[in-house]
Amino acid sequence: MRLTVLGCAGSFPGPESACSAYLVEAEGFRLLIDFGSGSLSALQRYSDMRRVDAILLTHLHCDHMLDACTYVVVRRYDPSGPLPALPVYAPLGAAERIAAAYSTEGEPVDDVYTFYGLQPGTFPIGPLQVTVDRVNHPVETYGVRIEHGGRVLAYSSDTAPCEALLRLAAGADLFLCEASYQDGLANPPDLHLTGGEAGEAATKADVGRLLLTHLVPAWASEASIVEAATAAYAGPVEVVRPGARYDL
Ligand SMILES: [Zn+2]
Ligand SMILES: [Zn+2]
Repeated sequence: MRLTVLGCAGSFPGPESACSAYLVEAEGFRLLIDFGSGSLSALQRYSDMRRVDAILLTHLHCDHMLDACTYVVVRRYDPSGPLPALPVYAPLGAAERIAAAYSTEGEPVDDVYTFYGLQPGTFPIGPLQVTVDRVNHPVETYGVRIEHGGRVLAYSSDTAPCEALLRLAAGADLFLCEASYQDGLANPPDLHLTGGEAGEAATKADVGRLLLTHLVPAWASEASIVEAATAAYAGPVEVVRPGARYDL
């Protein structure tokens, strides 16, 4: 299984990165997890933008799904003809949300996407075994656990601390975890993690490696987030960058 970071900026595109988007590949199958603002650009930089086999949107905040609207043009109007409808696993309402953002008439996009509503549980996407569960964020949001060939990748999506996050990440080889907030500040509750909270979750879930993402460079110091995460988790910690690849 290979993870490629396409975008990792939290909440809005940063100076060096698009918003959240992660390409997970196994056995030639390509699953795109989240498709945030600006990430269609990165998808072209690191791969053939037409070669996506399925999309999973963890929630319907703009920074995790807006380029699924832009991508309609790519698939519907390809010079060789329309590309096959793509499975999209997402919270209910994704079809309407993408259609509304794509055109003022809200014309359906079901020629481009076939939508499957997410619910907590385990199911296959291509060769990947995917488990999703609701995490602690103001809208319906799913954390993700992906298993393939005995290896485990877990992704927090956006969340404040919660038990579901620990279950999804339990024993993961790679734990891709958001760290939006700085420790020591009066952060809003039930929204995001601090670096320290990401580190605590990594320790409790006993993961092999912590990859921090969804930092907001304009609002938080990367150094302080890494310091707090490292103080709470003894394993390897790094902040992901666009274009970074991890084989597991
Ligand atoms: Zn976000
Ligand atoms: Zn969000």
